[in-house]
Amino acid sequence: MVYETGNPTVDDAVERVLAGERLDRTDGLALIAQPVEDLAPAADYVRSALGDGTVDACSIVNAKAGNCAEDCGFCAQSVHFDTGIETHGFLDPEEILDAAKRAERDGAQRFGIVVAEKGVSKERRPDEWEDVVRAIRLVRDETDVEVDASLGILTREEAEILAAEGINHYNHNIETSPRFFPEIVETHSFEDRVKTLELAKDVGMELCAGVILGMGETPTDRVEGAIALQDVGVSSLPVNILNPVAGTELGDELGDSADISTAEIVRTIAVYRLLHPEARVRLTGGREVNLAVDEQHLPFEAGADGILTGDYLTTGGQSPGDDIEVIERAGLEPNTETNEFDPSAVKARGENPHQPDEPVETATDNAELDD
Ligand code: SF4
Repeated sequence: MVYETGNPTVDDAVERVLAGERLDRTDGLALIAQPVEDLAPAADYVRSALGDGTVDACSIVNAKAGNCAEDCGFCAQSVHFDTGIETHGFLDPEEILDAAKRAERDGAQRFGIVVAEKGVSKERRPDEWEDVVRAIRLVRDETDVEVDASLGILTREEAEILAAEGINHYNHNIETSPRFFPEIVETHSFEDRVKTLELAKDVGMELCAGVILGMGETPTDRVEGAIALQDVGVSSLPVNILNPVAGTELGDELGDSADISTAEIVRTIAVYRLLHPEARVRLTGGREVNLAVDEQHLPFEAGADGILTGDYLTTGGQSPGDDIEVIERAGLEPNTETNEFDPSAVKARGENPHQPDEPVETATDNAELDD
């Protein structure tokens, strides 16, 4: 036995993870029922054994805000809900570059260009597509941050172009389990999201995909979401905690706070660490409204090793300095390497995209699915 909490389920899981075994759904369901007091230190041990002791920071820009045709029940940017958010078309690429430079100054390692629309479409909105590509090139060429994107469903051609331009991580959250997803979103399916993730991976991009906790899902749903992410293979797993916005379906249903306790948040993070030992488990939106100031470090003592810093898509975040305090309180350090990825290797990869034996089904409609 390499690590002992005295809880046989947890200790067995840790031993198998450290031996290189991938835990499965049965393991996940057994783990999510264990006391958080056992799970948190065990997950922290796994993070310290397999990770580098740093917390990786990313930042995003809402490059096109609001008026999204989709009906995701948590989202302030959907036209289905009256939330009064500020809307705008695709930003000038120079403005996106400025945001990337600010993020870099604030310590971000990765910078995501995010849009809220039915989907970027090279065919239907060629001018906007050109601006997307220009923005990617500007950030890629004039900063040292990794350029990521969250642009909704892609065609194979679009995905290949994004990979060739240097997008390293493609973000497309699955939000929750396959079972619970239709209770939150009706205008597209869980499978639509998974297909885009498979396509992005197939052309060589890494995947950043995660969930939102506290929407009314069960602990089993939380495990099922993590298992679905194992199946597609993510290297960054963002964990949002619902920040209910008045006017959205879930905001009106749940009131001010997410349907999840601090202990459940920490327990879920710990289980995700054990189910995804190689991924950055990244604490993202909603942590400031659902965790007290003196609780925010707890997920980082339970296996989390990534953070979304700066503002979110439609709500403000706390200052980068406050995030660093949270990280240091957990005994970890911000990742200060200039970058973990090699832009020239990414570009070379994009110029020689992997050709699969079996073609992946290509999305024909760019339904917008970004978060
Ligand atoms: S697809 Fe994205 S932007 Fe559109 S409503 Fe859903 S979460 Fe919001």
